[in-house]
Amino acid sequence: MSPQNRHFESLGVHAGREDLKTLGVHALPIDLSTTYPIQDLGVGTDSLDALVAGDREATNPVYARLYNPTVARFEQGLAALEGTDTAVAFSSGMAAVTAMVLARKGRGDHIVGVRPIYGTSDHLLSCDLLGLPMRWVKAEEVASAVNDKTALVIIETPANPTLDLVDIEMIVKAAGDVPVMVDSTFATPVLQNPIKLGARFVLHSATKFLGGHGDVIAGVIACSEDDAKALRQIRVATGALLHPLAAYLLHRGLPTLSLRVLKAQDNAEKLITWLKQQPQVKNVFYPGLNAGQQAIMKKQMRGGGAVLAFELVDGYQAAATVMNQVKMMTPAVSLGSVDTLIQHPAGLTHRVLEESTRQNTGIREGLMRISCGIEHVEDLIADLAQAFAAIKQRKVA
Ligand SMILES: *Cc1c(COP(=O)(O)O)cnc(C)c1O
Repeated sequence: MSPQNRHFESLGVHAGREDLKTLGVHALPIDLSTTYPIQDLGVGTDSLDALVAGDREATNPVYARLYNPTVARFEQGLAALEGTDTAVAFSSGMAAVTAMVLARKGRGDHIVGVRPIYGTSDHLLSCDLLGLPMRWVKAEEVASAVNDKTALVIIETPANPTLDLVDIEMIVKAAGDVPVMVDSTFATPVLQNPIKLGARFVLHSATKFLGGHGDVIAGVIACSEDDAKALRQIRVATGALLHPLAAYLLHRGLPTLSLRVLKAQDNAEKLITWLKQQPQVKNVFYPGLNAGQQAIMKKQMRGGGAVLAFELVDGYQAAATVMNQVKMMTPAVSLGSVDTLIQHPAGLTHRVLEESTRQNTGIREGLMRISCGIEHVEDLIADLAQAFAAIKQRKVA
C-alpha cells in the first residue's frame, strides 16, 4: 500500500517520519539552529532567493526565519491528515489568520465572512487592522455578497461557541472562483476534511486538539503548494514562526490525535445525554443535535466532536456558580486538551465582541462551553452534578 492510501490512524503515526529509518533514529529530530553555515556563497544566495519567494525548501536553509526542518516535518504530517500537498505552520492560530488575510491582500478589496466565529478572529477581522474590510453575512447570503473584488471567504465550522454548522459544500459553490478558508479547529482532521469538499485553505489553531496537552500555542494552514507560497512569504517577512520545540510537541501529538478526539467525543455525547435531563439546563448545543443541521452534519463530519455548550435556566449567576464550583474540570478558556475545560463565553472568550453581536449569535449570559477531555465520563458527570447542586443552594439561601 502506498503511503498516501494509508488509513488516518496510520498517517497520524507515520506521516512526516518517513526518512527516520534512513537517518537511523526513532524519535523526531529537533534542529534549534538560528543560522546555517554557508559553504558555497552562490548556493546560499540561490537558497535565500527561493525561500523568500515562498519555496518549501532550499539546498541551504540560510536562516531559521526562512526554514526549519523540525517545523517542516510537522507540516508534512499535518498535510497528510488533511489530504493537502502541504501546510504552513505559525506561532499561533491568530498569526495564521493574519497571514491568511495578508496573503490575499491585493487580490480583492474585502473579505466575506459568516458569523459566529472565534471571538478574537472576529475582532481581528472586524477592526480593520489588516486593511481588508469584512462583510459579515449569513451563510445563505454568501452567493449574493461575493463578487470579483472578494479576496477570500472565511467560515468556521463547527462554530464557536454555539457549535453551529456551516455547509462547506454550499459555501464553496456560492463563492465560485473566490477561495474559501475553513477554520476547522473544533473538528480536527479526525472528523472533517474541508479540502475534500472544495475549500482551498483549512486553518487550525493547533493550540487546541492538535497540541492536545495545553502546552503549545500554534497555528497551521493546510493548502496546495501553490497557495502555500504566499503564506510562507508572509511568514518569512513578518516572522510569525512556529518554534521548533513547539513543532516537535505538535508532531509528537499527531499519533494520538484520533484516540484523543474520539475518546473526548464519546465523553461529550454521554455528558449531553445527562445534561438534557437536568432541570437547571435550558438548552444544549452540539453539532447535529438541532434537526435542521443533521443533513449538514452527515455530509461533512464523521462525528460531533468534543466541544458542547449549554444554557442554564438561571443565567449569569448560575453560570458563575458552576464555573467557580467545578472540582475536577479546569475552569479555563481554550479547548482540545486531555483535561476537560469549562468556560463562560460571554464573560471570557467572546467578551471582545460587541454586545449586539453576542446577542445575535446566541452568546447569552447563561451559556457555558465545555471542551471534554479524556477522563472517565462518570467523574465528569459527578463534577457537574455537585456544581449544579450549588446553584440550587444559592437559590434557597
Ligand atoms: C483558539 C482559536 C483560534 C486562535 O488560535 P490561537 O492559537 O489562540 O491564536 C482561532 N480559531 C479557533 C476556532 C480557535 O478555537
